[in-house]
Amino acid sequence: MSTNEVTLESIGLSLDQMDRYMISIRTGIGDFDRQICICGHPMARHERSDGFSSCTVSKSWCACSSPLPVLEADRIKPFRFASTGFGQKHALSKGVYAMQRQGHTATWLIDPMCFKCKAEDVQIQPAPLSQTKKVINRSGHTNVLLCMPCLEDVGCVYYY
Ligand SMILES: [Zn+2]
Ligand SMILES: [Zn+2]
Ligand SMILES: [Zn+2]
Repeated sequence: MSTNEVTLESIGLSLDQMDRYMISIRTGIGDFDRQICICGHPMARHERSDGFSSCTVSKSWCACSSPLPVLEADRIKPFRFASTGFGQKHALSKGVYAMQRQGHTATWLIDPMCFKCKAEDVQIQPAPLSQTKKVINRSGHTNVLLCMPCLEDVGCVYYY
């Protein structure tokens, strides 16, 4: 193999990455304003001050303290639900649901995998975690994607 060959890889990029980028230029998707945080709310609605982060969609019910962009949606308006648990009760699931219902699409910005055991190709669910890293039935201090066995492993704390 010639070492002089110019490839995307040689400049630290992949074809996939460039595909996405070139599409983003055309469609206008590819900017921060369209990115959705793992808490289920737009990244642009997070505030950072003195190393402290908070989600401003509704400070009263979103405790997101470590924003992580997980997907990019062609419409971000639907992403304004509250988390009341993991899976279908998570704000991210509700947002994706509302978005799909309205005929819009989104793409992953991360490889969807279990944050704990790193398994891909398994069913993963968004889950809100408390400060003590338990799955809770309200908005999470942090939010993760977990496979079912890990969900059970992490354990749930119920607040009724
Ligand atoms: Zn967030
Ligand atoms: Zn939030
Ligand atoms: Zn797992």
